Amino acid sequence: MRLRQPFRSAHGVVGHRDVLLVRVVTDGGDGWGECAAPVEAGYTDEHVRGAHTAVRDDLAPRLLALRSCSAEDVAPALSAVTGHPMAKACLEMAVLDASLRADGLSLATLLGGTRGWVEAGVALGIPGSIDELLDAVEAALGDGYRRVKLKIQPGWDIAPVRAVRERYGTDVVVQVDGNGSYGLEDADVLAQLDDFGLAMIEQPLPAAAPLAHHAAMGVRLRTPICLDESIISAAVAAEMIAAEACAVVNIKPGRVGGYLEAKRVHDVCVAVGVPAWCGGMLETGLARAANLGLAALAGFTLAGDLTPAERYLENDIAEPPARRGAMVQVPTAPGVGAVLRPEVVASATTSVERVR
Ligand code: MG
Repeated sequence: MRLRQPFRSAHGVVGHRDVLLVRVVTDGGDGWGECAAPVEAGYTDEHVRGAHTAVRDDLAPRLLALRSCSAEDVAPALSAVTGHPMAKACLEMAVLDASLRADGLSLATLLGGTRGWVEAGVALGIPGSIDELLDAVEAALGDGYRRVKLKIQPGWDIAPVRAVRERYGTDVVVQVDGNGSYGLEDADVLAQLDDFGLAMIEQPLPAAAPLAHHAAMGVRLRTPICLDESIISAAVAAEMIAAEACAVVNIKPGRVGGYLEAKRVHDVCVAVGVPAWCGGMLETGLARAANLGLAALAGFTLAGDLTPAERYLENDIAEPPARRGAMVQVPTAPGVGAVLRPEVVASATTSVERVR
């Protein structure tokens, strides 16, 4: 099913999020999954329209052909279809939710999470001006958050970081995210960020850049490099870390094909002592709840993009988690942990298709 959820900002509603949800109906009960794919192609290969047809035409029929299906069966059953990690993750999440509900287990318990509360940080897009950025940082700190992540791109990097540091000193943990918009030739510019004591610079080079380029960038910067888009599996995470292409890992369940692979990426990071954190894709409260369950694992040592969805969605489909300042409560309810608001799901739904 597709839903339309309004994005909110300090200035009111600013556009909409077109979301793909999957509900699986099993003998043991129902489960819900959410696809992380964004509305438009560009940030990743996937987008919500493509994920929708992949789920409907290629992926769901393969699951339905199985006589029985546990969450562990989903990835192997779908492996003959290349790509589409976010579409696959959505189906795995729905099967996980159904089986966890049937077993009375929370996602955090299943995965081995050890924490009841996890730290969230705020991610800030590229605003229209430095003043707008400072207002957004002010609002985030006023809400009790202690870490801000600033999106950067060529021409918008040194000045915004300097402005935030000049205004707030070291009271705030600052990290930046290049979303793959730089080249190795920009290393000298990015090295100027070393003076600002950033927690990390995320994905300066495109995911498609050679591994050697990521490693070479790491040599040029004192700021630790975190990889996001590059980390598509636990095996790739191990390879990137071994090549010293990154010192921190951003783990996103959708990008790696699901929560079970995300746990394996986490385990790789723990095994080699690399800090990890849980990234976000502006999900609804459904997937954000599941991300909290994942982030309860001990290796998620840095604040994640785990702010409740009500921060950026108007009238979210799920009840918000409890929050105390920057700390957000990990769901304990059976399943992936979201408490859906049926009336909001119904009113936000724009289309429903059934695959049998
Ligand atoms: Mg990122």
